[in-house]
Amino acid sequence: MTRVGVLALQGDVREHQAMLESLDVEVVRVKRPHDLDDLQGIVFPGGESTAMAHLLKSSELREPLSELIVSGFPVLGTCAGLILLSNEILDGRADQWSFGALDVAVRRNGYGRQIASFEVSVEVSGVGEYEAVFIRAPRIERVAASTTVLATLDREGDHPVLVRQGNLWGCSFHPELTSDTRIHDAFIQSF
Ligand code: GLN
Repeated sequence: MTRVGVLALQGDVREHQAMLESLDVEVVRVKRPHDLDDLQGIVFPGGESTAMAHLLKSSELREPLSELIVSGFPVLGTCAGLILLSNEILDGRADQWSFGALDVAVRRNGYGRQIASFEVSVEVSGVGEYEAVFIRAPRIERVAASTTVLATLDREGDHPVLVRQGNLWGCSFHPELTSDTRIHDAFIQSF
């Protein structure tokens, strides 16, 4: 059985867990380094990237996760989780760190704050039409040549909203907040 972690320090952990379990995946809530044992991949949920960054340090998960990411461990980062993976954060807090693994620049709250939360249909490569939920979403403003853009949204210009770079997937919307499991499924099928 596929065994996947959900980083469970803060954010919408339960929704990701439910979606993965509906795909017959065994889910481990990751709160401590030993929770990473024998996982095939991990999801970084949406929530508050500054809070998660802080908790990653205090839980001592930052180092082992860094090493796993570099070694090719699959990670799906959604919303705040995308911010944690990115190698450049615009409008971040001055002391905000990230794993710097996914070669993209993201602007925190790039589509506006709470008021700018919205739902829109996007075309996802290999998946099809997908109803995407954006909540204080980061906006991807630069991608490296090595990053594959799987979906874009045309809103004040074209911006990628789902990208993949090898083992790393970054999603600016919330695939766990719909009943559509296709993005989680594509992630799992990539192992
Ligand atoms: N704006 C949040 C942050 O910077 C992300 C929002 C979300 O995950 N829904 O962390």
